[in-house]
Amino acid sequence: MKRTYAVKEIATFLYSTGDLTNEFFQNHSQIDGKKAHLHLQRLYNDDSQKEYYIKYTFNYKNDEITVHGFIDGVLKENGNTILEEIKSTREELKKIDLDYHQEHLSQLKLYAYLYGLINNMSIVPVRLTYISVDDYKTKKFNFILTIDELKDFFYKSIDDYTRWHQTLSEASTVKLDTLKDITFPFANKRQGQSELMKATYLTMKANSILYAIAPTGIGKTMATIFSTLKSMTKPNEKLFYLTAKTIGREVAIDSFRMLQNEGLKLHAIVISSKAKSCASKMQHCDPEKCSFAKGYFSRLRQAIEDIYTNEILYNQETIMKYALKYNICPFEYSLDLSYFCDAIICDYNYVFDPKAHLIRYFEDTEYQPKILCDESHNLVERSKDMYSAEFDSLLPLRIEEKISSYDKTITKNIRHFYDELKKYDDLVNKDLFYYSHLLDDLMLSSLKQIVQKAELVLADNKEIKDRDEILTDYFLLKDFVDTAEFFGQSHMFVVKKIEDNHFQIEIKCADASDFIYDTVKNKTKGIVFFSATLFPLKYYMDLLTKGNGKYINLPSPFPQANLDLIIKDDVSTRYKDREATILDIAHVIEGLVNSKKGNYIAFFPSYKYIEMVLSHLDIEDSEVIIQKSNMDDSERDRIFNKFKNTKKAHLGLFVLGGSFSEGVDFQGDLLNGVVIVGVGLPMVNIENNIIKEYFEEKYGAGFDYAYTYPGFNKVVQAAGRVIRSEYDRGVVILVDERYKYQIYKSLMPDFWSHKITLNSIGMIKNNIKSFFDDDSDIIM
Ligand code: SF4
Repeated sequence: MKRTYAVKEIATFLYSTGDLTNEFFQNHSQIDGKKAHLHLQRLYNDDSQKEYYIKYTFNYKNDEITVHGFIDGVLKENGNTILEEIKSTREELKKIDLDYHQEHLSQLKLYAYLYGLINNMSIVPVRLTYISVDDYKTKKFNFILTIDELKDFFYKSIDDYTRWHQTLSEASTVKLDTLKDITFPFANKRQGQSELMKATYLTMKANSILYAIAPTGIGKTMATIFSTLKSMTKPNEKLFYLTAKTIGREVAIDSFRMLQNEGLKLHAIVISSKAKSCASKMQHCDPEKCSFAKGYFSRLRQAIEDIYTNEILYNQETIMKYALKYNICPFEYSLDLSYFCDAIICDYNYVFDPKAHLIRYFEDTEYQPKILCDESHNLVERSKDMYSAEFDSLLPLRIEEKISSYDKTITKNIRHFYDELKKYDDLVNKDLFYYSHLLDDLMLSSLKQIVQKAELVLADNKEIKDRDEILTDYFLLKDFVDTAEFFGQSHMFVVKKIEDNHFQIEIKCADASDFIYDTVKNKTKGIVFFSATLFPLKYYMDLLTKGNGKYINLPSPFPQANLDLIIKDDVSTRYKDREATILDIAHVIEGLVNSKKGNYIAFFPSYKYIEMVLSHLDIEDSEVIIQKSNMDDSERDRIFNKFKNTKKAHLGLFVLGGSFSEGVDFQGDLLNGVVIVGVGLPMVNIENNIIKEYFEEKYGAGFDYAYTYPGFNKVVQAAGRVIRSEYDRGVVILVDERYKYQIYKSLMPDFWSHKITLNSIGMIKNNIKSFFDDDSDIIM
């Protein structure tokens, strides 16, 4: 059998030891580590080589094995050749010895054998160099190893690793065999499902980009997963199913489970957030505080072999069970286990956020990720957030108060920061707002110093008072400094004055398409963006993949007659007119709620608007539920469960774009109708107007890109709560005079083509009554 091993994968799997990295290593280490590597390699003399690729193929026990990898440095010093392996670290260098992480020296020994063998050397000088990412100080371990001892080590490693590789290759063969045999798990395909499957398959085969406008009900999760899997014929291809909502994740898990029950032997994993998967509930990823972090790597191999040979679907529950068995961190365990899985269900950020992405898949070329991006209309805003950051100007002061007694020099950097800040008192405009398309480099340089010093103090003083608070501030500042690395033409540097000597400082990304497209084009092998609400498509294609990609627009499988869609376009919901039109809004809601006992929702542009209308509402037989700001998941579930009590009628007064207008499945009689007040426009403010200017310059459609399109998407999402299955019937009433405008008419989905405009409350009531009375049109 032909086998190919990367040196790093052998060393990591067989020889990893030590603790899980402390809290500083999370998220930001990859960028800093790379920089530290480059710093050292730049110091090499002209005769030395960096990133030296080595590859060796040999026959061994019936196998043809190829081992390959990149040696960090092949150095020429005083006529000698020295192989160098560089490891970046935030650990104090004085604490590092050769037991720190045994996989590092093991990796160097494997390279040394290959290099020595190929170059006929009897001894091989090697150097293991640790570099601190904070100050680039180094600690070096030099050895001279004989080719004989390296040979023993090399073949022992090959024997050990081949046993694991055999397990993986058997699993891969079974996967590919069962993939060939597996058939679509439903006897009949829904309307549009075959088209979506074919388009997905061709996209994945061609490594290209597809946008699919795929309405609720066509079975898009199973369609896209099944077709992507069918396109996968190589062991290193991996399917990433990206979803931002719990409900999407559950549907994806069910789809994989169903295929596995049908005979597909494929390993699928769900990566949950650290907050949700932490076993110690305190999220102090410090080996001195969390036993799941202490000795993590020493127990990881056994934990992976155990779960891999006994399970094939790794959801949060299963991962936790095995993590507890081996006393290792469930979150890091899920990331490590994912390397051996064929399908990974996770949030967008594991692919697109440079501070969180899974580096092995999206920095190395070894894997071929195929991406399914569910509810991808959300990715536009999410991607902007990934490249934005902010902090309150009081934050450095808080850091100073808590750590200056440990490092007095930080005071100088903090003074420097506040000196730089002073100028914004004059620079902010009458709206107390300043922005620039350039970063304030002087301020940034002092922030970098503060971050670096805070980091060292925290690393050296584990028991420092108020550690949690300091860490929270540290991470905010660190995020700001790291985000600054990506500052470009689509970014703004913003300073908002809150009060005297108090500012909000922001890096704001107006458009992350350069970054998203770079990942899509260079690091993935096929991607399908799908959602029911990609209207207008050009907006999403521009803001995700710079206009690149093909598309399909699939019809809704639900009978149009099951949706009564009314537009009332004689009422202004603009801010200045709200007082005058409150009664109109209240009458529409009453007309809908009183037409039939049931559950209804009215969506508003703001909490304030809800309060205004509430005092004019005359609802007798329904419990009125009002959404509060900052509601957590449990409160949201409590309200959702109220709607499930069908003995009572409910009226929800919720905010458009909030947690009830998207990602909540009100199936069957859970929801009989909605009123949507307004056109969903984001708040018109100076910030959004700057974004408008940016889009005006770039696409000649500033207002639409900054306001109309993202706003109307919320309307379509909220309206979509009513019809969730072919058996659902319900009413949607859109209230705003702007629905007369051509732009809104052009944005409405085809499924709304039967809409009716009614402005008299009497006619609206009659229409709703006859809709609910008349079952003759219902197609079930
Ligand atoms: S169990 Fe929790 S606190 Fe411990 S390392 Fe994992 S995420 Fe961090």
